[in-house]
Amino acid sequence: MLTSGPEKNDRVAAVPAAKRLRLEVQGTVQGVGFRPFVYRLATELGLVGWVENSPQGVVLEIEGSASSLDVFQVRFASELPPLARIESQKTAFLEQVGYSRFTVRASSFAGTKTATVLPDVATCPDCLKEIFDPQNRRFRYPFTNCTNCGPRYSIIEALPYDRANTTMKIFPMCPECRAEYEDPANRRFHAQPNACPVCGPHIELWDKKGTAIASRYEALVLLCDALRAGSIVALKGIGGFQLLVDARNDEAVSRLRRLKNREEKPLAVMMPDIDAVTKICDVSKEERHLLMSTAAPIVLLRRRSSKAGEISLSVAPGNPYLGVMLPYSPLHHLLMAELKIYVVATSGNLSDEPICIDEHDALDRLGNIADLFLVHDRPIVRQVDDSVARIILGHPQVLRSARGFAPTAITLKHDISPILATGAHLKNSAAIASGNRVYLSQHVGDLESSLAFDTLGKVAESLCHLYDLTPQSVVCDLHPDYLSTRYAVQTGLPLTQVQHHFAHVLACMADNGIDSPVLGVSWDGTGLGSDNTIWGGEFLLVKDGSFARFGHLRPFRIPGGETAIREPRRSAIGLLYDIFGSTAFDRAEISSIGAFTTGEAPIIRKMMEQGINAPITSSAGRLFDAVASILGICQSTRFEGNAAMKVEFAAENSTATESYPFDIDQEASGYVIDWRPMIREILNEASRGASVTDMTKRFHNTLTEMIVAMATRAGEKNVVLTGGCFQNRLLTERTVARLQDEGLTPLIHRRIPPNDGGLALGQIMAAANMQTESR
Ligand SMILES: [Zn+2]
Ligand SMILES: [Zn+2]
Repeated sequence: MLTSGPEKNDRVAAVPAAKRLRLEVQGTVQGVGFRPFVYRLATELGLVGWVENSPQGVVLEIEGSASSLDVFQVRFASELPPLARIESQKTAFLEQVGYSRFTVRASSFAGTKTATVLPDVATCPDCLKEIFDPQNRRFRYPFTNCTNCGPRYSIIEALPYDRANTTMKIFPMCPECRAEYEDPANRRFHAQPNACPVCGPHIELWDKKGTAIASRYEALVLLCDALRAGSIVALKGIGGFQLLVDARNDEAVSRLRRLKNREEKPLAVMMPDIDAVTKICDVSKEERHLLMSTAAPIVLLRRRSSKAGEISLSVAPGNPYLGVMLPYSPLHHLLMAELKIYVVATSGNLSDEPICIDEHDALDRLGNIADLFLVHDRPIVRQVDDSVARIILGHPQVLRSARGFAPTAITLKHDISPILATGAHLKNSAAIASGNRVYLSQHVGDLESSLAFDTLGKVAESLCHLYDLTPQSVVCDLHPDYLSTRYAVQTGLPLTQVQHHFAHVLACMADNGIDSPVLGVSWDGTGLGSDNTIWGGEFLLVKDGSFARFGHLRPFRIPGGETAIREPRRSAIGLLYDIFGSTAFDRAEISSIGAFTTGEAPIIRKMMEQGINAPITSSAGRLFDAVASILGICQSTRFEGNAAMKVEFAAENSTATESYPFDIDQEASGYVIDWRPMIREILNEASRGASVTDMTKRFHNTLTEMIVAMATRAGEKNVVLTGGCFQNRLLTERTVARLQDEGLTPLIHRRIPPNDGGLALGQIMAAANMQTESR
């Protein structure tokens, strides 16, 4: 520390007067105003030397008296720019070379690329002031940015992060912008996307044919008129197109849903400012922080008011939560300031397809949805959707990792040779690793279309290109039919396949930075198990890089396999058949789950009796579906997890604390949780006309008790809760609390999504374990 006691003076006197300090810094140090910060600090202290970006991070050398170097080091550590984060630092004291002044050097290109690529950053307060200041030369300029904000990942083509390696290279800076860019004292010193109305990109409003109707601010004004009149507009934002529509207008929102082929899945809403958000939703201090953070994700908030005329009920039908985001780019800020209303802002795609990033592609693919196109001439390198996050147990949790979060960097304990992971089938994302670094890509989407499949390839290739990495092997899921598995096979590289639920557990462990042993509670809809049945209600003991199936939910047959995902009644009949055998078809509940026609019933019966196309599953997701159907809450689903969400939302309104009975049996495949006593009790209560709300709550409570019973049996202190089912807030919060009661340490996801979006990271961790072991 810098004290002026005698000790300090002794030391200063004892060392030579001048020295050279060399620092090699890794982490989030490029594109965040790091070099100007070093420049300002060094010149202020009268030090000489240089600073430069390298593919690994930032390197600097500084000469001066030992005491000023001390001061430099202390202030360097404590005054970092807001977005900078140092992950590792090498410090060396060397002989003086006699620099004459301090310079910011051109970037060096040698060595492996491990510098962290920054996600796209929401507009900072300083830039915001400028775009609303009529006296400022950037008044109403939609591409204003500085070293503290602006696009990063969506515009970077290669490392190091320099203008020549971004899509801004096609816009030569005007003298004024150039002067800012070259002035180390300026907020825009080496702000790579720096631009102004004179030299930078511009917006235009296009009709469906791609003919420009208006440009610059006039385009924005006309766009607002069109939105107010109920038009659907495609807007080219930071990481791709969004589809916008007046959120108050039922007719317009329904039209958007119909055209986008998105029947029921909630749509996100952009609100003008935080005050507007608090009028509609409950917003905690943590939620406010998350909404206004540099990542500016869509935040799931509890809707307080559903007054007519505010937000159309078809924005998020039957959902007590609303996905809300604030404007995050100057274009969005200008738009919302002009518009002053709530707008639906959803991904610019047809359902299941990746979002459009190019205006001509958008005309092509969104031409049947959007009436108008607000475009601009700054190319987007890669699609980066809006992220989705929420606050759970007081802290943020990412549910879809894209703009503002991706790429996510994770540090490994051991080095690994270059490897690619291709992730899951739904909510796909990819990951690469080399040395001690893993990079998880942005959300790619569901691999249900050839376009999405192509996007996975592009995302994987561009991630490898960005980090200049050539994978030596590839890791993917066990499921042979996942398109992500097919992509992995196509690469022709040595292939490792990792069991789905094991990968979930490893992803959550990496997210929390913990080592085995753990008990992994891995609950989701489906994933192929090591025994070739469908798993999904798994308890895995993870030790020394491998897993043992400690236990699972009692498996049951579901008639129709994949179609069962869309029809909870199929899960219900599977469950009832397991309890009552063929007499299940004659039971009264069957008429309420309804719905098998006289033509269907005999076929379903035959499927169950003969086990034809009626796969066995231990899926917790399907158990939710079955209960949703038996209680008459949901008989057909429009998207993954739809029925489970309805069960959760029903339970939220109950204060019931009891749980249902269940058994745990020891079998060859591990401990098996027998849910039949629970279902019998639910049927009894239902026949007595008990409250559906209370029954759904007791169902949740029972699931928690099942987890607690297994965790206490397993005897591992750390219990990892992972998989899509832990997007269920009620289940997660209650289970965490109960495990803590038992003196165990529950761990949940934070930066890495609990759903299949995090799977690629888990696959990398499995491969890393194998590589470490074979050494
Ligand atoms: Zn800024
Ligand atoms: Zn300019």
